[in-house]
Amino acid sequence: MRFETVAIHGIRTTEKEIKEWGSCINMASTFQLKEFGVTQEFEYSRISNPTCKEFETLIAKLERGKHGFGFSSGMAASTSLFTIFEAGDHFVFGLDIYGGTFRIMKDIFAKFGLEATYVDTTDLDNIRKAIRPNTKGIFIETPSNPLLDVTDIRGTVAIAKEHGLLTMVDNTFLSPYLQRPLELGADVVVHSATKYLGGHNDIIAGAMVVNDDTLAEKIRFAQGAIGAMLSPFDSWLLIRSIKTLKVRMDYAQANTLRLIDFLQGHPAVEKVYYPTLPTNKGKAIQESQALGAGAVFSFVMKDEKKVKTFFEALRVALFAVSLGGVETLVTHPSTYTHTEFPEEEKVARGVTQTLIRVAVGLENIEDLIADFRQALER
Ligand SMILES: *Cc1c(COP(=O)(O)O)cnc(C)c1O
Repeated sequence: MRFETVAIHGIRTTEKEIKEWGSCINMASTFQLKEFGVTQEFEYSRISNPTCKEFETLIAKLERGKHGFGFSSGMAASTSLFTIFEAGDHFVFGLDIYGGTFRIMKDIFAKFGLEATYVDTTDLDNIRKAIRPNTKGIFIETPSNPLLDVTDIRGTVAIAKEHGLLTMVDNTFLSPYLQRPLELGADVVVHSATKYLGGHNDIIAGAMVVNDDTLAEKIRFAQGAIGAMLSPFDSWLLIRSIKTLKVRMDYAQANTLRLIDFLQGHPAVEKVYYPTLPTNKGKAIQESQALGAGAVFSFVMKDEKKVKTFFEALRVALFAVSLGGVETLVTHPSTYTHTEFPEEEKVARGVTQTLIRVAVGLENIEDLIADFRQALER
């Protein structure tokens, strides 16, 4: 079955199974133990819950992987992942990984002896050079935030395999509809399900999918031991949201292309960043590893003095962090999402005061274009 069919019917366990169209939410925290001396699948919902299991089955099928996991947030997923390693283990990270991932490595896992090196992964040689005898994995995010740089997933996997390392991919920006890293050889996919999987800016959730059984056992243990698991209600909301993932992403992506086209022709705009623009050096790789480039882009305004007015003048798009929901959200990476870096470093990387990130939603495109036009011209 193709993606959207799986998204809609994937929680059935057999072809003939009748699922009530709304599914059920099993809110129980504990389950009656049926037979003395015998353990059972559902005993206590921190460890496993029927509704969370449905979501986990679904996300595994969508990523074309074997084992799926639901978490209370994207950060709960990544945190659980790194607890399976040992003090002294080292990891290579993309330079532009999500700020929260950088934060747990620097402020939490460093205390427990995990080591990290951050490199520009758009050049695979940088990854190769960063590998040490104690390296255990490579963690990438592609396309990256906020400059939409592309990392070659197959190339990263090849280097990892050569050195016996795990390839871990944060697939939040594209969702399994547009990109499936496990099919390209990656070992672990993590998601902030808060974004496209949730899709409506009303849940905080996370997910992970792996193929290897031993790895899955370790993740399952971490999830339950830590208590990072996804609630039954949020599992149900995600199952519901995922049924429309394809149509939402198709529509948001079509809106994105139209909005980019408008901005590229506007005199107040200097530059647009998007994975499949000819100016992106990763364009060919993007097209070889994903079905589309998604609905997040960034642009640079020519006049720094007009940036504040632009944000204040927006009427349809909302001034807010996050992405992946039905509402168009516009943010200023330099002041809101990339605060951990000193100003010179931000500017050197292209995260300037004039850089604006847009996560395009599902509003009518003419209304969005009109909104951006009036805000740019104010
Ligand atoms: C939002 C986000 C996260 C963190 O997810 P939460 O659900 O906020 O914990 C991780 N990675 C990326 C790429 C994100 O956009």
